[in-house]
Amino acid sequence: MAGAKKPPTKKLFYEAVFKHSVEAIVILDRQGFIAEVNPAASKLLGATAKKLIGKSFNNFLKFPTNWQQLAERQEIQIEQLKGKRKAIECDWVPDLLPNYNLLILRDIAGVGSYTIAQLNLHHQRVELFSEVTLKIRRSLQLSEILETAVTEVQRILQADRVLIYQVFANGTGMPIEEAVFPQFKPILGVQFPEEVFPADYRELYSKGRVKALSDVHDPDAGLAECLIEFMDEWSVKAKLVVPILQSFKSTTETNEHLWGLLIAHQCRGTRQWTDFEQELMQQLADQIGIALSQGELLENLEEVVAERTAKLRQEIGERTKAEAALRRSEEQLRLIANGLPVLIAYVDDKQHYRFNNQAYQTWLGLSPPEIYDRHLLEVHGVEEYRQISQYIDAALGGKTITYERDLLLQDGCVHSLNITYIPHFHKRVIQGFFALTSDISDRKAIERMKDEFISVVSHELRTPLTSIHSSLKILATGKLGSLSSGGERMLKIADEQTERLVHLVNNVLDLQRIQSGKITMNKQACQAQELMFEAVQAMKSLAQEQDIQLSVRPSKFIVWADRDYILQTLTNLVSNAIKFSPLNSTVVLSAANNFPQKHNSRQRSSSYITFAVKDRGQGIPQDELETIFERFQQVDSSDSRKKGGTGLGLAICRQIVEGHGGRIWAESCLERGSTFYFTLPKIQLESDRHD
Ligand code: ADP
Repeated sequence: MAGAKKPPTKKLFYEAVFKHSVEAIVILDRQGFIAEVNPAASKLLGATAKKLIGKSFNNFLKFPTNWQQLAERQEIQIEQLKGKRKAIECDWVPDLLPNYNLLILRDIAGVGSYTIAQLNLHHQRVELFSEVTLKIRRSLQLSEILETAVTEVQRILQADRVLIYQVFANGTGMPIEEAVFPQFKPILGVQFPEEVFPADYRELYSKGRVKALSDVHDPDAGLAECLIEFMDEWSVKAKLVVPILQSFKSTTETNEHLWGLLIAHQCRGTRQWTDFEQELMQQLADQIGIALSQGELLENLEEVVAERTAKLRQEIGERTKAEAALRRSEEQLRLIANGLPVLIAYVDDKQHYRFNNQAYQTWLGLSPPEIYDRHLLEVHGVEEYRQISQYIDAALGGKTITYERDLLLQDGCVHSLNITYIPHFHKRVIQGFFALTSDISDRKAIERMKDEFISVVSHELRTPLTSIHSSLKILATGKLGSLSSGGERMLKIADEQTERLVHLVNNVLDLQRIQSGKITMNKQACQAQELMFEAVQAMKSLAQEQDIQLSVRPSKFIVWADRDYILQTLTNLVSNAIKFSPLNSTVVLSAANNFPQKHNSRQRSSSYITFAVKDRGQGIPQDELETIFERFQQVDSSDSRKKGGTGLGLAICRQIVEGHGGRIWAESCLERGSTFYFTLPKIQLESDRHD
C-alpha cells in the first residue's frame, strides 16, 4: 500500500535539493577551504567535487582576492582551475553551522549579455536617429529637408509610402513630398477631401496626437466609411500618422501650430507599428518642425539680404555716378589748373609738394610728377630756399603772404613774379599752403617805363616852370608896369597854378628819388618834440589862414631819423589835417611809446615811438584807408582842385617812414576826424631803462 510506504527523511530531501539546485552552493570551513560543493558549484568552478574539496576558495577568487572580504551580496569574479574567468553574483552566509560558512553563487554572464544587446539596440537607434537628424538639418532648403525626411523614414521603416502632408491656412491640404515604392500609386499633389481630414482631426493633431493603425479595416479602429474608401483607393492597409508642429515666437511667448503631418503607409498588408517606429517618426517630425522654423528665419534673412543687396546696388550705382561726376570735375579742375598761365601748387606742412600744375614744366622745367612729394629745398636749391623760407614760415604759421621776386625761368629770361601763399587749415590745424605765382614782368616793365617817363617829363618841366614862376613873380611886383584889376586877378591865378605845378613836379621827383633808392637817409638822434614843433612852425601861416589851432603834446622821446625827411612827413600830415579840418578846430600832434590796439602786433612798443596827427575833419571812408597811401589816390577827385593837393604826399610819407624801418597808417571816423600814425625807431634813454 502506498500509505504504508515510509516518507523520505528530511535529510534525503535536503540532499536532493542540494544536488539539483541550479544555484551553486559552496561550504567553506573556517580557514576558507572548500568543505562541500553541489554539482552546480562544481560546474561553475570547472572541476569535480573531489578536486575542489580541501582547496582554498582563494584559489578561485579573482576579485576580491580573499574570501574574508566577501560582503553579504556582491558581484565577484572567479577563475576556474582551467583559467576561464566568470562574473558571478555571490551571497555570503557566515557561520551557517559552527565553523562553516555558506556561499551561494550565480552565473550572471547570461543576464549581462541580455542587457548589452538591449543597450546595443538602443545605441543603434540613437545613432540612426542622429544620422537622420543630421541629414535633415544639414540642408537649409525646405524642399531638400522634406525630401530627406521621407526617403530616410522609408529607408528605416521600409514603409511602402511615406509622405509629408501640408495643412494650409484654410484647413485644406495636400501631400507635398513623397517616397513611394514603384508598385504603389503616388499620392503627391492630391488634395484630400474635407471629410477625410476634418477639423476635429486637425485639432487633435495640433495637440500632438499620434495615430498608429495596424489595420485600417479593423472595426476597432473606428475609421469613417469615406476614409476607408479613400484608404482603399491608395491601397493603404496600415498607417502611422504623426503631427509636424511648427513653433513661432511672439514677443511674449512661444506658440505651436499644426504645419502638417508625417505619414507612413503600409500597402502590402497590415502592420503592427512598434513603439520604436512611432517614436522615430515623432522625433523626425519634431526635427522637421525645428528645421521649418529655421528655414523660415532663413527665408526672412534672405529677404532682408535681398532687400539690403538691392539697396547696396542702388547705393553703388549712385556712388559710381558720384565718382564719375567727381572724376569729371577733377579733370575739369586739372584742365583749368593746367591751362592757367600761373604756377599753382599745394605744399604740405612738412614742406613737400603735393600738387603742381603743368606750368611748372614750362616755367621751371620741372614736371609735376618729378616734383611730387619732394621737399621745397630739394626742388628750389639752397640759395632760393634761403630767400623764400621766411615766407614759407609765415604761411605755415597761418598767414596769407604775398611777395615779389625776380627769377631766371626756363626761357632764359629773368621774370618778375608775384607769389602768394594761402594757408590751408583743417579743424583749425594748419595742413599746408597753396602757392600761386603769377608773372608780373609786363606790369613791372610798364611801371618802370611810366616812372621813367614821369621822371624825364618832370625834369624837363622843372626848368621852364621855374622860369615861368619867377617871371610871374616879377610881373606881380608891378615893376614892369601896372596891370588892370582883371589882369591882376589872372596873374594871381597863373601864379597859384604854376606853384601847384612846381609842387607836383617836385613831389614826383621826390618820390622817384626815394623809390629808386638813389637817396640815402641821413639818420641821427632827434627829439620827437622838437620835430613836431618845427613842423607846426612851418605850417603856422597855413593854419592861421584857416583859423585852425595846432597843438603839440609834450614828449621826451628821442628817435633815430633823417630830420629833413621826417619833417617833410610831419608837415605833409599836418598840412592835410589843416586842409581837411573845419574852421576853428584843433589839430593835435603827439608822440607816444604805446601803439593803438589795431597795429601793435608787429613792432614791439619798447623799440618804436608812434607819432600821431589828429584832426577833427571830414574823415576817410574805411575802404580807402589803405589806398590813400598809393600814388595819385584821393578820396574825392575834386580834392585836388578844392584843396590843391597832388595825391602824392602820403605815398612820399610812406616811402620815407618805411625807409626808416617804420610803418604808417590812418584811422578815421567819418565826420568825426582822422588820425595819421607812423612809427620810428626809438633811442633808449637811461631814464627809460629805469622805468
Ligand atoms: P594830397 O596832396 O591830395 O593831399 P595825399 O597823398 O597827401 O595827397 O593825400 C591823399 C588823399 O588822402 C587826399 O586827397 C585826401 O582825399 C585824403 N586825405 C589825406 N589826409 C586826410 C585827412 N587828414 N583828412 C581827410 N582826408 C585826407
